[in-house]
Amino acid sequence: MLEIIMLGTGGSMPTENRNLPAIAVRYQGWVLMFDCGEDVQRQIDRASLGTNKKMAIFVSHMHADHILGLPGLLLRFSLLGRIKPLNVYGPKELIDYVKVNQSTINLGTTFETVVHAIEPGVIFQEEDLTVRAFEVDHRGFALGYELTLQKPTGEFIPERAEKLGIPIGPMWSKLAAGESVQLEGGKTVHPEEVTGPRPNPVKIVYSGDTRPCQALREASKNANVLISEAMYTTEHEDLAEERGHSTAKAMAQIASESNVGLLVLTHYSPRYFDGSDIIREGKNNFADTVLARDLMRITLDKEGNYTITEPGLEPPTKSQD
Ligand SMILES: [Zn+2]
Ligand SMILES: [Zn+2]
Repeated sequence: MLEIIMLGTGGSMPTENRNLPAIAVRYQGWVLMFDCGEDVQRQIDRASLGTNKKMAIFVSHMHADHILGLPGLLLRFSLLGRIKPLNVYGPKELIDYVKVNQSTINLGTTFETVVHAIEPGVIFQEEDLTVRAFEVDHRGFALGYELTLQKPTGEFIPERAEKLGIPIGPMWSKLAAGESVQLEGGKTVHPEEVTGPRPNPVKIVYSGDTRPCQALREASKNANVLISEAMYTTEHEDLAEERGHSTAKAMAQIASESNVGLLVLTHYSPRYFDGSDIIREGKNNFADTVLARDLMRITLDKEGNYTITEPGLEPPTKSQD
């Protein structure tokens, strides 16, 4: 099971109920974070994401509303004694930005921060998770991200393994992880012989800040979830164009054309207060649209079916580091 937690859903300025952009994806001990808006450290605490998880942060672009949370996060993790290295991916300007921020932590950080200056393409591959960056159309260099979860094999079927005489133990684990094994006597067993059909990949796409563009349309093809900025409604299309943003309608049209499972509209302007105009416009153009709220959780099962938990309805579970 993979879980998306919307840590911050505001655009440009925080409001009473909305922090600046940050999205966490939790999967088997990993926390992948997309953008790092101001005060993300308190949202991490509220969402019980822990201090010492395997973690990577993907920054969409160097506008302040997407990166002001990084200094606080580095400080928090140091004060709490994080040990594991932290990998940060994004535009090359991040290298100096992180260096300057580290220099403000007077006792020094307790962990290594590795900054990866990236270009569009596959930038991260760990276990079943792959992240691809693609360039979007904002002001200056800006990236969107496509996260794919692909299991190496289908479900392990113990009866088949027993039938083939494979002893219970490490060989079972290897086959379940997609590796072939050699039995005593030399016979090789391949994972396909003891597993069910390989499930389709589960795909999540994050737009970053962007005008509607072809790269986003292509990345979103058959995505289970598209998390997209929707800074304006069509009433302010002129502002969207001038400032390099999108309307709820434009993103709903992309979701519809790209056969998306669920569209999550986020990063909307503080002028829309509770976002009712944004969600109305989104839903009118694509029925499977929800408005992101801080600490909303979306869980995806291995078939990519989603369940949405509104914030406040689920007691937080303290994570074990
Ligand atoms: Zn922004
Ligand atoms: Zn921006």
